[in-house]
Amino acid sequence: MYIEIDEIRKAPEQTLRIEFDDTIKELEEENHIQADITFKLLGNIITAKGKIIGDIKSTCERCLKEFNRKIDIKLDEKYMLGNLFDGMDGEIELKENNFLEELGDKKEIDIEDLIYQSVILNSPNQIVCDINCVGDKIIEKYVKKDISDPRLEVFKNIKLEKDN
Ligand SMILES: [Zn+2]
Repeated sequence: MYIEIDEIRKAPEQTLRIEFDDTIKELEEENHIQADITFKLLGNIITAKGKIIGDIKSTCERCLKEFNRKIDIKLDEKYMLGNLFDGMDGEIELKENNFLEELGDKKEIDIEDLIYQSVILNSPNQIVCDINCVGDKIIEKYVKKDISDPRLEVFKNIKLEKDN
């Protein structure tokens, strides 16, 4: 599901609300996600605010039991049309506000990707069925921990570039 930037531009008050009720295929687990997101264009910034709720069939990392993980995320993201350094001369002071996604030449926003990224960023480091889950010592001993974290991908890329 994509939203065209022109659709936001042409919408009353340059504000467009979308509802999503589907599966996010990028998530490996079975899931059902509902999102209610309002996009608003302000100058060259698009804000995306709303709510993401849903269920993700997850496996507890302590006891290996399958359970329904509830998702409840408050979304507050910003996109920038074009690129941050376009038309800027001299030194730029990077403030907190500068950390936003640049759209570059893109004409649309990928809703599923926005939801996927939000779910990943809001997931705990360890997924457990219950905060008090004591786990299973025998299982723990034999389970190989997967320590890959999609949030660390960016560092992997940096390393690759250096190797070249
Ligand atoms: Zn558990």
